[in-house]
Amino acid sequence: TAAPAPAAVAFNNVSFRYSQQAQPALDRVSLTLNAGERVALLGRTGCGKSTLLQLLTRAWDPQSGEITLAGRPLAQYSEDALRASMSVVPQRVHLFSATLRDNLLLAAPDASDARLADTLRQVGLDKLLEDSGLNSWLGEGGRQLSGGELRRLAIARALLHDAPMMLLDEPTEGLDAETEQQILALLDKVTANKTVLMITHRLRGLADFNQIVVMDNGQIIESGNHDEL
Ligand code: ATP
Ligand code: MG
Repeated sequence: TAAPAPAAVAFNNVSFRYSQQAQPALDRVSLTLNAGERVALLGRTGCGKSTLLQLLTRAWDPQSGEITLAGRPLAQYSEDALRASMSVVPQRVHLFSATLRDNLLLAAPDASDARLADTLRQVGLDKLLEDSGLNSWLGEGGRQLSGGELRRLAIARALLHDAPMMLLDEPTEGLDAETEQQILALLDKVTANKTVLMITHRLRGLADFNQIVVMDNGQIIESGNHDEL
């Protein structure tokens, strides 16, 4: 079945506090991501960026305020419907102690070997197909991946999942400038026609985003396009 069409997402006065914390991680956040828009989310470490992204996936629910997708509260969607509507490239990529195939299939259980191999080529991970191909063992007891390879693997998973919305948490964190360029160019290509929310520390390339949102201390302190800010 075709992936659902891109839909608008809205945070309406959303506050969220982790149970052990005294201060809220998100404090009355209001933000709209229009369908098909590319939004960059910036701010100092610990300001709440990853938390905002995780609330969208319903890893947690806000204590007050509401998040909507296509005008309906997230809670009204089934877990499957929500999963089908967004692909996530998390800040910390998890590698399973399993075959390369199984590390990819968790994003798209029905994908054929040919599609897995194609996707690996698309993200520049063809090297992993040498030796035992998709049967190569990764993680504990097998091949470990470099930071850049792990990022590419996460992007491959997101591509296989193929949802209309792509949530990226620092997709180039810790990478050298050349690898960063390659990954950003790749993302540019594969996110055409998708709604994109990208958390980034990097100030170059922001002109390509429709909306730039700056957070501090759990709040949105600035937003606008490149020319306005
Ligand atoms: P960074 O740029 O370093 O990734 P961030 O902007 O993504 O930072 P968050 O990870 O959203 O920040 O964290 C916001 C606040 O919530 C921080 O004070 C952090 O310590 C706290 N926090 C994050 N995750 C948890 C958690 N699982 N349990 C408790 N507190 C958390
Ligand atoms: Mg973070």
